[in-house]
Amino acid sequence: MREGKLVILSAPSGAGKTTIVKHLLKNMPSLLFSVSATSREPRKGEQEGVDYYFLSVDAFTAKIRANEFVEYENVYPGLFYGTLHSEVNRIWELGKDVAIDMDVMGGMHLKEIFGARALSIFIHPPSIEVLEERLRKRGTETEEKIAMRLAKANKEIESAVHFDVVILNDVLEVAIEQVVSKVNEFLSK
Ligand code: 5GP
Repeated sequence: MREGKLVILSAPSGAGKTTIVKHLLKNMPSLLFSVSATSREPRKGEQEGVDYYFLSVDAFTAKIRANEFVEYENVYPGLFYGTLHSEVNRIWELGKDVAIDMDVMGGMHLKEIFGARALSIFIHPPSIEVLEERLRKRGTETEEKIAMRLAKANKEIESAVHFDVVILNDVLEVAIEQVVSKVNEFLSK
């Protein structure tokens, strides 16, 4: 049986990663989305087992102790996000490849774990100003949380050089096309 691969998409919050991942999954039926676990509250419209596995902090830390995560990060203070071994294996056992939406630290960490089996893609926002505007438009975060995400974004952009591929998300359609092309190339190798 062919060995399953992993496509990692990382970006600062608000860089358009979620939209790009959605298009990628629609275009490429051989890719399945790895649903992460998180200890944050569901946003309006988010579904259990579709967007995330929503866990209490206690349930999350119990899974850390039981070694159930490939990787996890304390992405924001008190908020854990992680990828479960069971989720990645479930997708590979179906003969599919895994697409993962990850914070920047997590993306670099996963690439280190999986090496050539993984393609790491960094979605680069056109500028911090555009990022701020997008975060505000999304309207899901308080001012305090926006400030926290922007401070983190500044640091994350410096890490772009550690990724296999960097895609500038200025014009969304162009960025999607570039991501699809890079992923196709990687999966057909
Ligand atoms: P949000 O709260 O906006 O859904 O996600 C916050 C950040 O956590 C995003 O950058 C998202 O990519 C990241 N994230 C989601 N799942 C995982 C995961 O399994 N591991 C890590 N390290 N980060 C994740």
